[in-house]
Amino acid sequence: MGIRRKLSHINTIIIHCADVPNGRANTIEDVDAWHRQRGFSRDISIAPKHQPQLTAVGYHFVIEVDGCIRPGRPLHETGAHVSGHNLNSIGICLIGRDQFTQEQWSALRALVLMLLHPGNGLMITQVNGHYEYSSKTCPGFDVIEWASNNYQPIMGNILEVQ
Ligand SMILES: [Zn+2]
Repeated sequence: MGIRRKLSHINTIIIHCADVPNGRANTIEDVDAWHRQRGFSRDISIAPKHQPQLTAVGYHFVIEVDGCIRPGRPLHETGAHVSGHNLNSIGICLIGRDQFTQEQWSALRALVLMLLHPGNGLMITQVNGHYEYSSKTCPGFDVIEWASNNYQPIMGNILEVQ
């Protein structure tokens, strides 16, 4: 279950993908159901008005294929998205596997820049991919390359919508 934390303990953003077919329009409600099945749970008492209908989702944000940024857990609740590093990180999940829409790339960039913005109360020093903490390939693109290129979309990871 998520536990309360101080925002000053957060220093890392970790990017994930949902590992579903690219372009399939899954939602944060789907992710919430999958995480519930895996036994995750939120502590809704930490922020009773923050998305109380989502009782399990382990991420702080999910970015859907239309570029909508859906809030999951509040930042002052620990996530459930990376073994051993949930206390100090923010989890962001892109719906898809390794190709994401332009709207998703734009939303991800805006969200990350907002979280990194000086004076917002957060002190984030790194933006990483889940693969840096596990043997998984998640989120399916090179997060270091992406960050070093000012968070612009990576050519081979853009979903072309017909
Ligand atoms: Zn992941």
